[in-house]
Amino acid sequence: MAEKASKALVQAAEIGSLQGVKAALEAGADIDHVQEVNNITGTALFIASHRGYVDILKLLLCKGASVTKRGEGAVAAAPLHVAALRGHTEVVDLLVHHGATLDIREAYQKTPLMIAGSWGQVDTVRQLIQLGARVDLTDFRGHTALMHCEMSPFVLDQEFAEMMALLQEAMETRLLRCCYPPCGKPGYRSTLKLCGRCKLTRYCSRDCQKQHWTVGHKKCCGHDAYTGETPDPFHEMTKYKFTLPGGLSSERILQHLFPEKFPQVREVVGPKNQ
Ligand SMILES: [Zn+2]
Ligand SMILES: [Zn+2]
Repeated sequence: MAEKASKALVQAAEIGSLQGVKAALEAGADIDHVQEVNNITGTALFIASHRGYVDILKLLLCKGASVTKRGEGAVAAAPLHVAALRGHTEVVDLLVHHGATLDIREAYQKTPLMIAGSWGQVDTVRQLIQLGARVDLTDFRGHTALMHCEMSPFVLDQEFAEMMALLQEAMETRLLRCCYPPCGKPGYRSTLKLCGRCKLTRYCSRDCQKQHWTVGHKKCCGHDAYTGETPDPFHEMTKYKFTLPGGLSSERILQHLFPEKFPQVREVVGPKNQ
């Protein structure tokens, strides 16, 4: 019975049915059950974060759903990564206020800020910087969020200019923020104190650290690093075939991101010449 309810919970989250989510929880569903639905495998909270269903997310958070449990794709994205990818700013806000770590890494060591940058989500880039995300971090290839924005085939001219300005400013000021969201006091790496355990969150005071631990860092601390193997990015991307609304195909995107794999193609698409 509980197994059936758990399955129904994830399915309800996928179709955006708040009633369905409520009913499944009342029927004894495991709130962190992982299930495949429409080619995404994750918890109800992971799927609601991806789809941007704010009401469902609020209910799941209030019932204690995990904000760190990752999707089961090779990329091992956390809910905050998928919310950033889709530019769901309200979801990002809710996750962070419930303890989600801003600079959580996926399998390519990308942070939500890098993902938002490479998908042209200007508002999310601005929001993550304001919340205190680190702009200086690099992924497994040594690319920063700014480099992701520069290399992205998805970013339009207007978005590109805005995001570059935001990221460059943050790189220059080097200002970070206290990771307890209601505080968010600005500070530098030398003045903010790191969480001694995960070394990923930073605080202006002992009091903010205690508060943040209570609102959710307790459940996230130690689950934010990705320590598994790095999947082959080219192999992963060839699994998906799609065409973006502007007509850009997955094939062209592959040629742009991995020119070395397409020696016969001389002209590749870039962020400014699509
Ligand atoms: Zn603080
Ligand atoms: Zn910690």
